[in-house]
Amino acid sequence: MKVIGVTRGLHERPALVIWELSPDSDPPGPSGSGEAASRADPDDLTFEERHRLLPRLTAFGEPLPVLVLAGGHPFPRRDATALTAEASKLGFPVALASSAAAALTTEGLEALQDAGLAGLAVGLDSPDPAIHDGQRGIRGVFDRAMRVIQAARALGVPIEIDTRLTRQTLDGLPLLASLVAILGAVRWRVSFPLLPGPPEGEGSMTPLECESTLNDLHDLSLTAPFLVEVAEAPQYRRVILERRRGIRRDGRPVWAVASRWPSHLDPLRRVPVGSGKGLLVIDHRGEVHPSPFIRASAGSVRWASPVAIYRTHPLFRALRDPERLRGRCGRCPFRVVCGGSRARAFTVTGDPLAEDRLCLFTPCPDPLEAPPNPSLPSGPPLPQP
Ligand code: SF4
Repeated sequence: MKVIGVTRGLHERPALVIWELSPDSDPPGPSGSGEAASRADPDDLTFEERHRLLPRLTAFGEPLPVLVLAGGHPFPRRDATALTAEASKLGFPVALASSAAAALTTEGLEALQDAGLAGLAVGLDSPDPAIHDGQRGIRGVFDRAMRVIQAARALGVPIEIDTRLTRQTLDGLPLLASLVAILGAVRWRVSFPLLPGPPEGEGSMTPLECESTLNDLHDLSLTAPFLVEVAEAPQYRRVILERRRGIRRDGRPVWAVASRWPSHLDPLRRVPVGSGKGLLVIDHRGEVHPSPFIRASAGSVRWASPVAIYRTHPLFRALRDPERLRGRCGRCPFRVVCGGSRARAFTVTGDPLAEDRLCLFTPCPDPLEAPPNPSLPSGPPLPQP
């Protein structure tokens, strides 16, 4: 079977390093205010260890990865400002993507901008404030997000809107797309849920809903004034390739659109970042993970080189090897260009190399392998590329 796609040079260096300066998430306090700060972890990297780490990351070589400073509450903003300045001096493009971003003041943003901040990612799940607040579990966070977006716009800081997709937010997606345009965002990053769910279930979505949404995002991306990016649904790349051949698998009509972008906007020309493949996560204790959702430490930056971990650790190498994939992903002709969400495979089955159960596509029947989820609908046979 012909395998579609090319292997990009992601074995040497990631495109993205996410550094979680504080624990990733913090449940809201009993008041629903979200201000219940977690206590300092005695195992956190010390100030000296944090500042010694940045020069070590330059060993990835040019072009240096984008460094995303992330974290929840309490977010060490002063430290983030100092690290932004130091990282910018070393040549890293630095962005801030924190659940605490919505709490930034104009002064805080100005300090980060002076330090060299290249972008700010703000979460926005719905155009409806009540739905957004409910999904984030923090009352008033929609209004705070709007304020920080306005402040960033006034300062000229490029904005990315991050949306967590669930069934509750699905209906509001077209309206949210209009809001993203009105807010002047340069990028809209839509994250798909990790757990596939039944049609009547809350929170998650079915493979058919995922397929339709990916097709809708494809159509939107052709005319949107911002870049559309998809997280945890790499089958978007399969959808794009199929749409170019007039194939749409969700049963809806294929519009006569030519899915061609200027080359710098073409999703298929951009680095396909996924767990351990173009992506490295360092948590607040210095443990290295392939993804924010695969919390399997591959070592600590205290004792090992993050560069060596990325290049040689068996987990990272396996995640970059499409021939190690199992189930439908393992026999899929799109496994190189797509490969499925490894974070979803890990969350659903505990095996990061298992098939992605949110994908609608069934490559070919294999009588020796029982279908892991017989309820999944099968698409029509794929024409030979
Ligand atoms: S079966 Fe797996 S590799 Fe193939 S398109 Fe679906 S998610 Fe991607």
